[in-house]
Amino acid sequence: ATPTAIMVGTGRGAELGVLIRSAEALEASRAIRTIVLDKTGTLTTGAMTLRDVAVAPGADRAEILALAAAVERGSEHPIARAVVGAAESEADAAALLQTLTAEGTAARAGSGVSATVATPGRAAREVTVRRIEADDVLDDAVAAAAARSGDEGATVSAVVVDGAVLGVLALGDAIRPESAGALAALRRLGIRPVLATGDAAPAAWHVARALGIDEVHAGVSPEDKLRLVEALQAEGAGGVAMAGDGINDTAALAAADLGIAMGTGTDAAMASGDMVVSDGSIATIPTAIRLARATLRTIR
Ligand code: ADP
Ligand code: MG
Repeated sequence: ATPTAIMVGTGRGAELGVLIRSAEALEASRAIRTIVLDKTGTLTTGAMTLRDVAVAPGADRAEILALAAAVERGSEHPIARAVVGAAESEADAAALLQTLTAEGTAARAGSGVSATVATPGRAAREVTVRRIEADDVLDDAVAAAAARSGDEGATVSAVVVDGAVLGVLALGDAIRPESAGALAALRRLGIRPVLATGDAAPAAWHVARALGIDEVHAGVSPEDKLRLVEALQAEGAGGVAMAGDGINDTAALAAADLGIAMGTGTDAAMASGDMVVSDGSIATIPTAIRLARATLRTIR
């Protein structure tokens, strides 16, 4: 595109709440045929709520919630806000949480967060809140609760204390009201949606079914998201866009022909996008692509 085209496109983008960060982004938008969409925070609001806590026999619900919250204080994931908020609003958990200090908090993108949690008068504990792994050993009742929550579309994370899964947390998230319309608009632009999420298959399909998406990649790591973008590019069926908001999306955003960062997400995601949708609304994506295409058509 000519410098004029880029300036006009960039200016109109800004009016629509789209920050276009490179000339390539404007160019790339023309050829996009596939869009890889993150689930949490992109198709859903990302404003998660804690729906259920199931604990192993002998474990205390308030204590598990407080331990999880102590660790989640060091995470930027939407799950963290929900868990900390829930613990602070429940009297027993809140009282316990005040006595806990987390040290050496380490967040692993697309997986979870760990810390050493100290409590006065007892040995420190290693606590991790993370996705459930295939080889996790779960108490039967806890496993049943996790399965039920998954079927209901919840995101389920394990609370691991000194190596044992002592509880699971079920987190609910609502599909954005504008997601269905945005997907319809993308399809009209000839762009096929593909869902890629680090979340487990039941929660992923819950959203996919509701939105009529039939290609789903669940339980994927940040590297898997990157590889998926590369594999779709290698198919040669046109350009590949990627829309996401998390640290776990940054590699895929950077590799995509058009990386679209949702502006309400993490700073890391925003630094990796070619376009930033400042209102974080998925409805703005087809608008931005239409604008970019129209701008190039008019100016050429
Ligand atoms: P998404 O692709 O939907 O944005 P992520 O890749 O960020 O999901 O996370 C994948 C899964 O890892 C989540 O569904 C959750 O079970 C787990 N997880 C990630 N971060 C955290 C965290 N801070 N606390 C608990 N679980 C987490
Ligand atoms: Mg996300």
